[in-house]
Amino acid sequence: MGVMKLEEFKNEVWFCGCCSMCRETVSKGIADKHAWVGVCPVYDVLRFDHYTSRGRNTIAKYLLEEVLEYNQALAEDVIFRCLGCKACEQICTPTLVPGLKPIENMKIIKAMREDCWNMGLVPQKLKEVCMNILDPEKNNPYGLDKELREEWAEDLNLPKQADTLYFAGCAAAYQNQNTPEAVIKILRKAGQEVAYLGNDELCCGHQLIWTGDIEGARKNAEELIKRIKETGAKKVIFSCAGCYNTFKNDYKDMGISVPFKVEHISKTFLPILKKLELKEQFKKKVTYHDPCHLGRHAGEYKGPRKIIRRIGAELVEMERSGKESWCCGAGSGGTCLINYPDLNQEIRSRRIKEAQATGANVLITACPMCLKNLRDAAHENKVEMDFYDLPNLVAEVLGLKSEQYDSWKG
Ligand code: SF4
Ligand code: SF4
Repeated sequence: MGVMKLEEFKNEVWFCGCCSMCRETVSKGIADKHAWVGVCPVYDVLRFDHYTSRGRNTIAKYLLEEVLEYNQALAEDVIFRCLGCKACEQICTPTLVPGLKPIENMKIIKAMREDCWNMGLVPQKLKEVCMNILDPEKNNPYGLDKELREEWAEDLNLPKQADTLYFAGCAAAYQNQNTPEAVIKILRKAGQEVAYLGNDELCCGHQLIWTGDIEGARKNAEELIKRIKETGAKKVIFSCAGCYNTFKNDYKDMGISVPFKVEHISKTFLPILKKLELKEQFKKKVTYHDPCHLGRHAGEYKGPRKIIRRIGAELVEMERSGKESWCCGAGSGGTCLINYPDLNQEIRSRRIKEAQATGANVLITACPMCLKNLRDAAHENKVEMDFYDLPNLVAEVLGLKSEQYDSWKG
């Protein structure tokens, strides 16, 4: 076996003290009978230690000591089952000790997946997703026709060149077309015109990175960045949490330079909402689901909440929110949704019940994948709620609601 990527993280792996805080933790005081709160959603459902970072780091030690070898069962059952939600890294015990950093569990899991990719141990369904992304006739994870990507923008006459570019991403362009439409309507109402790559937009490569095809991800990212540079854009704005974090952090981790500013719409919309008059106040009780890739991965918690308060809604937080938020269950790039549908269904059911327990009748999020996953969970669990991706919510209060908008009700 050649050199493993995992070896780059040897020190990280050895530094894990197996304290198990990343499995479950005491968050409400020891006297509370519900004091032990689950941290890892996968462990919460499946109850085996090897699904947690603590357990996986022990396996990583054995791999590094060569008492264990990567194999298909290990890859399928353990390495690809992690959601990449980062809850374990958030709570990692060394963070409680001043001066110490958490174990970089996300880098460890990505390294293990890269090793699996290089050894041909990747689950078949995820391999097909990667092939679809890199297929020049498709360039999207769903294997759909490349030409369908810009369907949502057909009547909007968006320019190909401008100082700011909007990156819609595959999930919104193919599965959630009201979101990009709402983004453009809001920006135009504020007098801002943005460029759009249309069918030349490529998948950001989020799933390539989380499946371990780093060379594929690198080539894809370099071509995409070249295309964006050709538009002359100095800033790129995103409505998808996953795409945003890929540009903001993952490319940097891969040593790829991003020669423009990147911004999530939760930041873009706030000054617009301060400037424009609201058509109506959103006088409803709402809860907000933090997408893992916008919250824990990219550190954006306040922006969406400020927007929600600005439009007059009453925000009630779920038991686990902000840094402690619970993943919707889709997993990074939908890897769990695609490969372990039963597990995804159980995790998303638990999350939607947490949302229901707040008494809110509206759920807001800022990621098209979380939105779809939680809306499906509501249908499965007969939970009556309305669902809004952040741009749809802002469009509604500005009187820019799309004709097809009611299809997003839960
Ligand atoms: S990233 Fe999430 S799913 Fe994966 S081990 Fe950590 S807490 Fe569990
Ligand atoms: S919380 Fe950190 S140190 Fe403790 S077991 Fe988990 S990864 Fe290891």
